[in-house]
Amino acid sequence: MKMLISIQIGVLVVAIWLVVWPRLERHFLLQAAEQNEVTLRLVGDSIRAALDRYEPLPHLIAERPELSSLLQNPTRPDLIDATNSILLNTALSVSASDVYLMNTAGTTIAASSYNKQRSFVGRNFNFRPYFQEALQGDLGRYFALGTTSGERGYFFAAPVREGAEILGVVAVKFTVDAFEEAWRSAASNIIVTDHNDIIFMASNPEWLMRATKPLSPATLRSIEENRQYPLERVTNLDVDRTPLNADADILTIENTNFVGSSDKMVETPQWTVTSLAPTEPARFQALLALVVFSLLALISILGIAFLRHRSAQQIRTQKLLEQRVNERTAALSHEIEERRNTEEELRRTQATLIQAGKLSALGQMSAALSHEFNQPLAAVKAYAENARAFLDRNEVSEASDNIGRISKMADRMATISKHLRNFARRPQEAVGPVSLLPVIDDAMAVSEPRIKASNVILNYTRPDEEPYVIGGHVRLQQVIVNLISNGIDAMGGEGLLELNIVSIDNGWQIRMRDHGAGISDDAITQMFDPFFTTKQTGKGLGLGLSISYNIVRDFGGTLWGKNHPDGGAVFGVDLVAADHLSKAAE
Ligand code: ADP
Repeated sequence: MKMLISIQIGVLVVAIWLVVWPRLERHFLLQAAEQNEVTLRLVGDSIRAALDRYEPLPHLIAERPELSSLLQNPTRPDLIDATNSILLNTALSVSASDVYLMNTAGTTIAASSYNKQRSFVGRNFNFRPYFQEALQGDLGRYFALGTTSGERGYFFAAPVREGAEILGVVAVKFTVDAFEEAWRSAASNIIVTDHNDIIFMASNPEWLMRATKPLSPATLRSIEENRQYPLERVTNLDVDRTPLNADADILTIENTNFVGSSDKMVETPQWTVTSLAPTEPARFQALLALVVFSLLALISILGIAFLRHRSAQQIRTQKLLEQRVNERTAALSHEIEERRNTEEELRRTQATLIQAGKLSALGQMSAALSHEFNQPLAAVKAYAENARAFLDRNEVSEASDNIGRISKMADRMATISKHLRNFARRPQEAVGPVSLLPVIDDAMAVSEPRIKASNVILNYTRPDEEPYVIGGHVRLQQVIVNLISNGIDAMGGEGLLELNIVSIDNGWQIRMRDHGAGISDDAITQMFDPFFTTKQTGKGLGLGLSISYNIVRDFGGTLWGKNHPDGGAVFGVDLVAADHLSKAAE
């Protein structure tokens, strides 16, 4: 995960340096170039406006009659004074730096600066191209560093005529400092170069009079002849140019980089205005944008990484949960399987125990049983011997009577034997509606030998109506036999057992009351537990009540036992009533 993030950040850094940074830088440099275009338009317009304002001035001044008069009478003081003051007023009113009048030899005979220390009066400007041009009758124009003032100025000159004759030349000079002053507040540097690529106007004064290209000897010579600039001040300025686009270059001037855009003025003079926007702010903006971009990219990478991490974690947690659920499900189904097996096992054990319980009851009854069988057998033997004696004596009717008694005895033994067989047999019976009457009858029949052998009287009150319950005949019989057997035991073989069938809510109750010592405290809590017995070894297995309890429960009923307030114990079997009609329909 961390490795992945590192790789992504690495790719991001490389992408920033190789792809994003150059594009961003270029974008902001081009923006600076666009800004240059606006600056160029403003600067060009302001220069053109100034030139247009000054250009007609010399013509207008030359029209004044005082000027031609003076040129014709150059020594007349009144004319000199008058012209001087005209020129001074003109200069003041149009904000020109100088207005002056020269004769055809180029010598100044009147000037706005007449009363100044560095007056133009008496100076000769024959060498200036503007003078030459005006003397030819044209409009003279020129840019130069003033030889008298040392100030840079733009000159316009016009001839002063008398008819067709040119008497002299009037010139107007204006300085350019005011432009530069305005440019200094701009964000870009402005330079204006002449046709020789010499900077004569610049917002940075250190660049003035510097040549941006090496000057040819011919150019140098012409500058010297016209005294345009003092040659010692014209030095080279190293300018490196790398094109940015069709309109702009990256210029390196004295180790500083600029986005430079130039505009060549098509009208005279053929100047080139260049706007130089420092690249620093553009680069700074690009850097700022880059930082924002990088931060956003970084946040995205980390955000995506975080989301991925979280979803991976969620998937892991989910898988873990699923695994746990599966494990738990497996464990549960294993548990269920085990329970089912245990239940099965229990059922089998219970069946075995029921059988064991029954056999134990049979065992307890065996003494009584042997008496039950021995007595009729002894009687049968006696009746048989009697019958033989009567036959020997040919007393057939007596013999027949005895044989009839034998037959009755045999029937009786067969009945006992049938009950015992039913009781001992493993029940395969289904649970359904049964009538309690035959159940009680059979249970009493099975118990009869034991009751007879003791001094117990079983008092059974038959109900008026036939009670049908949900159960199984043989198993219910077993429960009743057990209760009778316990009752006999509890009374020590002597006393009254009361057996009743009463109607209860939704069913029937078989009640068995004895008059014994009652249920002991120990037994009251544990008597339904398997193998709990208070009886002597060999007499009780402790299974009777526990098996009976389960049998009754299987029928949806309850087996309960408590002490009777008047002494002795009461046991009850509460059973759910069954629809006897369904029994009848079977
Ligand atoms: P067993 O008869 O083999 O002892 P049972 O499960 O039938 O096993 O009875 C458990 C115990 O419950 C008896 O040992 C006895 O202590 C008590 N018990 C059962 N029936 C009675 C009763 N009618 N009166 C008093 N105690 C009884």
